[in-house]
Amino acid sequence: MSQLNDDIKTNGQRLWHSLEEMAQIGATAKGGCNRQTLTDEDRKGRQLFANWCQQAGMTVTVDSMGNMFALRAGSEPSLAPIAIGSHLDTQPTGGKYDGVLGVLTGLEIVRSMNEQNITTRRPIVIINWTNEEGARFAPPMLSSGVFAGVYTKDWAKRRIDFDGHSFGEELQRIGFNGSEPVGKYPLHAYYEFHIEQGPILEAENLDIGIVTHGQGFLWLDVSVQGKESHSGSTPMPMRKDALAAAAQMITTVKQIALDHGPDAVGTVGYIHSSPNSRNTIPGEVTFSVDFRHPTQEVIDLMTANFNAQSQTICKELGLHLTIQQVSAFEPVKFNDSNVDYLRQATQKLNYNYREMISGAGHDACYIARVVPTAMLFCPCVGGLSHNEEEKILPQWATAGANVLLHAVVSAANAID
Ligand SMILES: [Zn+2]
Repeated sequence: MSQLNDDIKTNGQRLWHSLEEMAQIGATAKGGCNRQTLTDEDRKGRQLFANWCQQAGMTVTVDSMGNMFALRAGSEPSLAPIAIGSHLDTQPTGGKYDGVLGVLTGLEIVRSMNEQNITTRRPIVIINWTNEEGARFAPPMLSSGVFAGVYTKDWAKRRIDFDGHSFGEELQRIGFNGSEPVGKYPLHAYYEFHIEQGPILEAENLDIGIVTHGQGFLWLDVSVQGKESHSGSTPMPMRKDALAAAAQMITTVKQIALDHGPDAVGTVGYIHSSPNSRNTIPGEVTFSVDFRHPTQEVIDLMTANFNAQSQTICKELGLHLTIQQVSAFEPVKFNDSNVDYLRQATQKLNYNYREMISGAGHDACYIARVVPTAMLFCPCVGGLSHNEEEKILPQWATAGANVLLHAVVSAANAID
């Protein structure tokens, strides 16, 4: 088994070149990418990736959700592989790096290992998950969701796009309705390298983010019922002003999030006031609440706190209140041992890093339910993502690729 010296690195230039070449498929006039899932562009991107993997000596198989698995053999083929994965699909006005970076970094790691004759006990597999973005077929992370048992395959295949095409038909049409059963591919551990999609790493001048948790969220719909009446002739003590109450409640959302800082966030992003007339006291207001935090206990606490304060506000003003939970996603705690492999590799290679939480959803958040998982972030300029102007620097991609190479080879050679 080969041990990795600190000076063993990936080829950053080759990785950058592969990113540029993939970005030509579905390239947009503004310099981004439109390679939405199960389109002809997606098919071309998948074929390019499969060709590259085969040229690097890997065996590519496809499951019946179109998830692609490119396997590099280990010296002990009976052991479950270490996986590196992400997604090649993009938003309609997407960037060149969201998802693509993680898949092509996996490829670069294997190419570097081949060149430098690095062998591992466990095989290594590069995964391209189908339809992470959810832009064409909602919900996002659809196929990693089926792999993890969150959705059934039949339900997923019936998802319909805006033109009435189903996921199942389109998967068949582009020739990626594979024969392997979904969720059966044995994985010992899963690693995902992704752009941060936020501003923290760049602002702190760091190369690497080691992701320890994925944020959970809880969404509420709030409705306050008051009474419409004349704004001139109704004395202040006799009003049932739904918007005045909603204003107080919205202020509590911000305060509750600040009280649970620095990791908590709380947002009211939507509000509708009725009748929305200058000289009528608002009779009904509905608004949304979005609470997020890396632990469920805090999300529950924030929600309970908001409920209690809202009840008090509405009671004092004689208003009727209803609060409904409309959606929720449980936080993810990534695997300690995976995180440790990433931490050790980052320290060994002397990169500046911090540990952090993922604010966005990723395939890794579902895979973590069934396979020991962790994530690595690189900075992105201005925190901009889901945007054609999404940008990273080549040295950021290279740093992440080097860390992942060392982490994955150590994990694949460990006796455990
Ligand atoms: Zn992504």
